[in-house]
Order: sequence, then structure tokens, then C-alpha cells
Amino acid sequence: MEHASARQIAAIPHYAEQGRECTLFEQAWRQRLPVLIKGPTGCGKTRFVEHMAARLGRPLVTVSCHDDLSAADLVGRHLIAGGDTVWCDGPLTRAMRTGAILYLDEVVEARKDTTVVLHPLADDRRLLSIERTGEQLQAPPEFMLVVSYNPGYQNLLKSLKPSTRQRFVAMSFGYPAPALEEAIVAAESGVSAAQARSLVSLAGALRRLTDHDLEETASTRLLVMAGRLIAAGLDPAAACRAAIVEALSDDAETVAALAELVDAVL
Ligand code: ADP
Repeated sequence: MEHASARQIAAIPHYAEQGRECTLFEQAWRQRLPVLIKGPTGCGKTRFVEHMAARLGRPLVTVSCHDDLSAADLVGRHLIAGGDTVWCDGPLTRAMRTGAILYLDEVVEARKDTTVVLHPLADDRRLLSIERTGEQLQAPPEFMLVVSYNPGYQNLLKSLKPSTRQRFVAMSFGYPAPALEEAIVAAESGVSAAQARSLVSLAGALRRLTDHDLEETASTRLLVMAGRLIAAGLDPAAACRAAIVEALSDDAETVAALAELVDAVL
């Protein structure tokens, strides 16, 4: 099963720039270079791509990659409809035909056979050979391939091969600096500046923790979720437990320790 959505974004989604990533992305698009975005989950990668697609006036096709996603899921397959066999484009082929920006989220999760398709597309050839129909597609100038992954999982089996990585212009994302993250949390959730400040200082305390074996830490996304609950009237400590603490761990002791930290910081 693929999870794909194609849409022409009407309004430009809000994105607070951390550095000069918007200019870099725009230049890469103009130069027809593919982009690789590295960064932890919930730090703004998807929002950035949505923002840039809207700014550049291109449709965005997003595919959330998973360990069962194959080259055929991306390219397309023959389907049987009313006794006839019809070819059905996958999201990658559709994105090429429409000059869209194709965003493969968590690309390292996808099956290895996808690299066979992505390599000729990510280098100068910008080509897709659809084996099953014999069609050769050349990407139009507006088409762009963008992939993201989270290097923090430290799974060597799931890192990108150098031969793949070296085809992309790479950008590294982290959580925004505190003042910027406060502005993002306030704008995205509707909490006051003071509430945003205490959510961001809680995130700082959680991100400094190293003694609990957390796979992930408090992301900007989790702060925004907690902020939305607070803006809706929920008690801040209860909101942070539900939106942040419980999302970070299933271990009862760790949850209790993180909840204590919430009470101490808020
Ligand atoms: P990722 O794709 O890195 O997992 P997202 O782009 O989905 O993360 O970001 C999660 C949420 O955090 C967004 O929906 C948005 O509310 C907020 N967010 C994070 N960074 C920014 C930013 N720089 N500007 C605006 N919103 C942001």
C-alpha cells in the first residue's frame, strides 16, 4: 500500500525559516538538483517542503515510505478493471508527468529495489524507465525529487548508501533555536508568548536528558500539540503529559520521571 497525496496548495503554509534553507531549496529547484533533508522527526521538514512547493507554484506529491514500499508502488502497475488490464501510474510517475515536487518522507524505510528507480532520476539523466510498459520518461524542468530521513535512528542497515546520498544536495535540520521555536509554537497552537516560552524550556530540559533510553525527544510537533490542548483550555501539566510525556515513552518509570520534570519546569 502506498500513502500518497497530490495537491496543489492554495495558501502558502506558514514556515519560519531557520537559516537560508528557502534560498538553497529554490536554487536547487532552478538547477534541477534533487534535495535530501536530514533531521529528527517533528522538526519541520514536511512543513518546509509544503511551504516551498506552494511558493514555487508546483503541486506536491508526498509518499510516506515504509518497509513494504516497492519500486512498483512508486512507478505504477497493471490493474485489472472489468476484464481489461490497464496501466495505472504510481505517485512517482504521476509527479513526473505533472512537473510536481515529489517528496519521499523517511526514504530509508523503503525497499531496496526503489534505488534502481531513484538513481537515474536523481542524477543528470532525470530519467524513468517503466519496464512493464517500455516507456521512457524524461523529467520536465519543473519536476523535483526531495527525500528525507532521520539519521538519529542509528540503524546502519537503514542508512542511505553513499552512491545514493551523493546524488543529492543535502540539508541538515535540527530543532529551531529557542526564540524561533517559541514563535512557531505560539503561531501554530495559539498559546500566549509566555506559555510558548515555558513549553520551549520544557523541551530544552527534555532534550538535555540522556539517562533515559528515549528513542526520540520532545519535537516541535509535540510542543505544538501540547500548545493546542492548552489553548483549548486544558491544564498545562495535563496537556504536556498527554501530548509529550506519553508520546515519548511506554515505560512506566520513565513516564513518571518525565512527568516530574514537567511539574518542575512548568
Ligand atoms: P517533520 O516532517 O520534520 O517530521 P513537520 O514538518 O511535520 O515535521 O513539523 C511538525 C509540526 O511542527 C508542523 O506541523 C508545524 O506545526 C510545526 N513546525 C515545525 N517547524 C516549523 C517551522 N519552521 N515553521 C512553522 N511550523 C513549524
